[in-house]
Amino acid sequence: MNYRTASFTGREEVSFANETREVIDSVSFYLYPNIGLEDENKPRLVINRVVMSGREVPFSFQSRGFVLRVALPNKIGPGERSRVAIDFSAAIPAVQQDETSLLAHFLDEINDAIGEERADNPSREIFFAADDAILLGYFFPMLATREVRDSDRMPASGVKSAICSEVAGYEVRVIVEDGITVIGSGRAVRRNGLSESEGGSGNQQVVEFHGNRLRGFALIFGKQLKSVERVVEGTQVTSYFRAGSERLGLRMLELATRAMDTFGRTFGPYGSPTLHLVELPLPASFSGIDLPGIVVLSHAYFVDFDSPQPHLPGIVRAQADVIKAALEFTLAHEIAHQWWGGIVGSDPRRDPFLDESLAQFSAIYLYEMAEGPEIAEKVIEQQVRGTYFTYRMFGGLDTEVERPLRDFRSRLQYAAITQAKGAFFLIAMRRQLGDERFFSALRSYCDEHRYSISSAEKLRVALLNAAEDPRALRVTMRRWLNDKHGDEDIGNPGITLFPQANTGMRKLGRIFVWIGRAAARPF
Ligand SMILES: [Zn+2]
Repeated sequence: MNYRTASFTGREEVSFANETREVIDSVSFYLYPNIGLEDENKPRLVINRVVMSGREVPFSFQSRGFVLRVALPNKIGPGERSRVAIDFSAAIPAVQQDETSLLAHFLDEINDAIGEERADNPSREIFFAADDAILLGYFFPMLATREVRDSDRMPASGVKSAICSEVAGYEVRVIVEDGITVIGSGRAVRRNGLSESEGGSGNQQVVEFHGNRLRGFALIFGKQLKSVERVVEGTQVTSYFRAGSERLGLRMLELATRAMDTFGRTFGPYGSPTLHLVELPLPASFSGIDLPGIVVLSHAYFVDFDSPQPHLPGIVRAQADVIKAALEFTLAHEIAHQWWGGIVGSDPRRDPFLDESLAQFSAIYLYEMAEGPEIAEKVIEQQVRGTYFTYRMFGGLDTEVERPLRDFRSRLQYAAITQAKGAFFLIAMRRQLGDERFFSALRSYCDEHRYSISSAEKLRVALLNAAEDPRALRVTMRRWLNDKHGDEDIGNPGITLFPQANTGMRKLGRIFVWIGRAAARPF
């Protein structure tokens, strides 16, 4: 890793088994940093060489450099194992400071809501270099475990919502200059200087990680990161933050320990030795991102309203409650993804609501357990019903919750349907089943599909198995998942600001930009 030039070279050795029932003559890898690139863009992740049994083998690309296909020199039968080594390198795209501010996040949300085209810089949400940190999520060729389908189109909800992988064991060795904090998805088993006999030239450190049953691996390189840590049920939870965020960094750790404890007791053990929370300057779009064993939180939301903030403009101070709640709710949602999406895998292209509805529901449940049902009700109003209402107010139509990723047109629609309406679906299931049956259904669902890839049908079966009256439960299920009764069941904002896409919305965008420039300069 060359931190200064934001580039790296790597070698990956993959041992894999053919778990299909057919003889295979090729294997494919997803190159997530290349997803959604146009023909004229250079690939970010470059493949230099593929080697099997000591000799180079031919390879080709599909979907504009997103899929790497390796022709196997010898066919592999069902159950047989093989190994492949891939040499790769990458230049990491830069994120500028003004792309990561709260104002940028705010404007990006407005643009998404009014259906403006997004600036084209796909995949940067998980793969970028900022001023004082580098995030590498899914940065290496990842064995594609399902049949490779056409993946040209960048999903409207972002690259993170398209990632699907089986669990694997990882041994990762990183060499980078001294003085940089290296955070990885697994447990660090070595952290020291690189000796001359290892090819070190001084001023370099080596960090080695081990990780079991991870759905990918992420690395974060940071300058001047501080940290606090705590052990919960055998898992070391560490909160990394930037100077000045001490109070919020500690607050995140406290919330995370509570989340780990509640989710562990309710759904089943987390099962990994580490969880890292990291404050990073995320480019506008996302307040948080879940990665294997890591939750990234957007620096823009780290505003400490409880200590004097003389430079905060009034417009932001007036939103204090919302911004504070957004950060805490994001943390709860992303930690819940360690269970829903992490421990229990799902295919987000096929069933995007599966992990999203469960993560959203779990975040609400955490508030209920930690602060009582009244606060949980407030959170539902603000973070869940509010999202659905905003979507409807901007002219979005109610849709069924169960639909493939390619049918979602914007991030707001994705959030309103998979997360908000999806959470209401689970609230309805809980009401109908009663707490005991509902939570024991979720627990057996988690047990049964631990470390495998689940499906909507499997969640249905788990809930139906717990029902006294499966027929009645099926009716409610269909109502939420496959019909359009959102306005009746969730409510209706009563007004629609913009009944049609692309009419007065561009003007509104300009007004917000104008207000933003005038009022929110300090960001
Ligand atoms: Zn989510």
